[in-house]
Amino acid sequence: MLSVKNLHASVNGKAILKGVDLEVKKGEIHAIMGPNGSGKSTFASILAGNPVYEVTDGEVAFEGEELLGLSPEERSWKGLFLSFQYPVEIPGVSMVNFMRAALNEHRQYNGQAPIPPGEFLALMREKQTLIGVDKEMIQRSVNDGFSGGEKKRNEIFQMAILQPKLSILDETDSGLDIDALRIVAAGLNKLKRPDNATILITHYQRLLNYIRPDIVHVMYEGRLVRSGGPELALELEEKGYDWLK
Ligand code: ADP
Ligand code: MG
Ligand code: MG
Repeated sequence: MLSVKNLHASVNGKAILKGVDLEVKKGEIHAIMGPNGSGKSTFASILAGNPVYEVTDGEVAFEGEELLGLSPEERSWKGLFLSFQYPVEIPGVSMVNFMRAALNEHRQYNGQAPIPPGEFLALMREKQTLIGVDKEMIQRSVNDGFSGGEKKRNEIFQMAILQPKLSILDETDSGLDIDALRIVAAGLNKLKRPDNATILITHYQRLLNYIRPDIVHVMYEGRLVRSGGPELALELEEKGYDWLK
């Protein structure tokens, strides 16, 4: 599904990614862990098409197609989803209108007519229940005045509506208390299917108590320096990141 080869990237001339290699197959959950500042969010941003970062070398294929030349919108239409580490507030745009617009853009790209209102409301209701999102929350402006936990849950709700092929979740667990973490993890587990894949970026091991990754990677100074099974996350929890140096 995703093939990243020798990815190098910089911002304002400063090298941040220094040769990332990653292969993600359908049905897999990958976790990317690593100390602060190692380049995890940069990697996610580049996959989503943030133009701040300059790719200086390497290639990325998504479902066999070159990804880096596409706009962020095209990447989304093709089934890529990024949940932000710091979700943006959009005052004045209701969740309902935001989701309808996003969904219809996706449908248009795939040659489908806009979703009929009744079908849309049924879909919203279904996913609200699935993820445990308040009815009142989706009447409000996107993330406007939401707590940290509500913002993160809202990201998963958006993911549930759009049903992406590849989801990249950047520190979705940060700022969540243990109950919110459980709810978000349960939502994510419900969205796992044999034909989609997930990259979980997390600084801490605790999320991985609730979502079992197939492969765990460690990013350090702009490279994935170790890969292993779920036991690698436990090892990191025990030893910290200092031993990587
Ligand atoms: P992580 O998510 O692993 O904590 P980041 O990708 O956020 O790491 O950051 C990696 C490095 O790149 C850091 O040194 C950070 O300061 C730098 N960096 C990231 N984005 C920018 C930016 N837009 N401008 C300047 N430096 C940046
Ligand atoms: Mg960070
Ligand atoms: Mg980060």
